[in-house]
Amino acid sequence: MPTTNAPDPARSSAAGSSATSSPGPSTAAVHAGEARQKPGFSLTDPIFASSTYTFPDTKSIIDFIEEKHPREEYGRYGNPGERVVEDKLAALEGGEQAVLFASGMAALVGLLMAHCSAGDEIVFFDECYHRSREFCRKHLTRFGVGFREVKTCDYAAMEAAITPKTKFLVSESPTNPHLSVVDVERFADLGRRRRVLTLIDATLCTPYNLKPLAAGVDFVLHSATKYLGGHNDLLAGTVIGRTELMEPVRNLRGIMGGVNSPHNAYLLERGLKTLALRMERHNANGLAVARFLESHPRVERVLYPGLESHPFHDVAARTMRGCGGLVTFFIKDSDWRRTADVVDAVKIPRIGPSLGGVESLIEQPLVMSYWNYSPQERQAFRIHDNMIRMACGIEDADDLIADLAQALDRT
Ligand SMILES: *Cc1c(COP(=O)(O)O)cnc(C)c1O
Repeated sequence: MPTTNAPDPARSSAAGSSATSSPGPSTAAVHAGEARQKPGFSLTDPIFASSTYTFPDTKSIIDFIEEKHPREEYGRYGNPGERVVEDKLAALEGGEQAVLFASGMAALVGLLMAHCSAGDEIVFFDECYHRSREFCRKHLTRFGVGFREVKTCDYAAMEAAITPKTKFLVSESPTNPHLSVVDVERFADLGRRRRVLTLIDATLCTPYNLKPLAAGVDFVLHSATKYLGGHNDLLAGTVIGRTELMEPVRNLRGIMGGVNSPHNAYLLERGLKTLALRMERHNANGLAVARFLESHPRVERVLYPGLESHPFHDVAARTMRGCGGLVTFFIKDSDWRRTADVVDAVKIPRIGPSLGGVESLIEQPLVMSYWNYSPQERQAFRIHDNMIRMACGIEDADDLIADLAQALDRT
């Protein structure tokens, strides 16, 4: 679809549905969704920096409307470069259709607004991203959509919370910062049995580590700002699912307008090319750093699903290729200030929110995200004073470990 009115037969042929066996994650990351021959004989996809698209004459407009020719019309409804990224994301997840948004939150809002009406209810696992739950609790409720949350991975509690009005079951996996791992097959099965749509926010696992759609989940959502973009230089989000369920989402996006600039879409396409390579390193660094921290005398506890000590290690080992770069740990006998001293003493990870980029990041959740919360609220969210969250980048594990060692020994 990038340049002509006719569907492009070369589209996706390198790594798409016409291939006899489905390509591996690296091949898909590099080639899926892209035409074999591109405008100007360019190897890389061009950036179509255009807000609007022209027609040669009036008849062409009428043909476009009546015969639904696949071409662009206006930037809010689509851009050729954005479609390439959407096809690549759909291929990576093994889904029929991806819709790209300006951020992960725009994707969540777009999905829920497209499918929920007054009188419907949504049930969340309670460790989901706090802004996602806040949107439902404070805002969707104003439009008559009910909101409930139950303890994460308590499938019986989730089933008990389902009523005839329930429209969506929502979870994240792994969760942040506790890294609880949802058994996606069990979650999907619950939705199917009770005829409720299921959504997994798979930002932390990426399609490299887990394929929720293959497990039967209806929708996968990503903050592409994190691992998919991978370079801490863009914001984007996506929802992926069956075409019949994604069409209303695409139509609403065209009205709400939370779209990416063509330049941003290209940046995401470029980042995605190395997804599999980067994830291998994030997985290896996360595990190496978690093992080191678990053996350090100043560390009270480490949360990482790849460690045997993690409460969801078995589910992770059974369902995930790797556990990513996020590691949460607790400093022994330390109040928030002594914990902050450790954060301030590291030299390689920068101090800041977010995760999933090539640069390691470190933060104290109490300070970064929960400073204005009451002690009761922090306790409810299990945000402890001595908790540190490190998002391992793709640096050398030995360097990250040596840096953490000096920070722990010096403070
Ligand atoms: C960051 C994040 C979001 C929100 O995405 P944005 O791109 O920042 O809007 C949603 N879910 C998870 C799990 C995230 O980490």
